[in-house]
Amino acid sequence: MAMAFLWPGGKNKALAMSYDDGCRQDKQLVEVLNRYGIKGTFHLNSGVMENTSYRLSKEEALQIYEGHEIACHTLTHPYLERIAYSEVMREIWCDRANLEAFTGRQIRGMSYPMRNHPAETEEMCRAAGIIYARTAESTGKFNLPEDFIRWEPTCHQSEMLEYLPTFLKLDKWRKLSLFMVWGHGFEFERENSGVSWEMLEEFCSQVSQDNDVWFAGCTEICRYVNAVRHAEVSCDGNMVYNPSAETLYWETDDGMRCLLPGECKNIR
Ligand SMILES: [Zn+2]
Repeated sequence: MAMAFLWPGGKNKALAMSYDDGCRQDKQLVEVLNRYGIKGTFHLNSGVMENTSYRLSKEEALQIYEGHEIACHTLTHPYLERIAYSEVMREIWCDRANLEAFTGRQIRGMSYPMRNHPAETEEMCRAAGIIYARTAESTGKFNLPEDFIRWEPTCHQSEMLEYLPTFLKLDKWRKLSLFMVWGHGFEFERENSGVSWEMLEEFCSQVSQDNDVWFAGCTEICRYVNAVRHAEVSCDGNMVYNPSAETLYWETDDGMRCLLPGECKNIR
């Protein structure tokens, strides 16, 4: 039997919450996430963060997103299919460079702005050092993305409470399940958005009670899955080498086992 990989800590499920635009309401959103120990990922447009009533400034973002992931959403939030490819490249690269400069972190994630993105932009993301890019096309599933450069979420946050019971009840045999929710902070305060602070509170309260869920940033999830996919297992399945920088976890009949970065082990 193939190795049954688990999420870090030996968990079966992971939750990613991915928010776009760096809205003012993210302050309250992060307060709720923090209260329940849930990690968010925030996709920012670094070229348009100053002097707007809609977005947080860089200084505010740095403070508010402490302990959460910061990721790209392009420099100025254009329709990617309406601008020159050379500008698309600049929109991605410069956003990444700006975010790295003001956060002092490595920025490797992105979400596409304005829903559509031409297929060519996916290769541009890769060339610009982006390891995953989230779309806004819901799948309604808890699967891992085939290709992280086109990472389709489970659902928009307006539907998160509908999918939650199924996620909480997933069978133990279903390893590496992933619930990816996306949205915007402003939706909590806009009428008829299908989203409210009460909904968020309810969702976080329920999901945080499930000890089998790993709460992680999108980059952490992407890196871990890449490490799983690149684990080097011998032909007879008896030996495994972990060439990544992640500790890998999997389940055996005798319980959970793990493999440190660079470690090679007989596993049966
Ligand atoms: Zn956006």
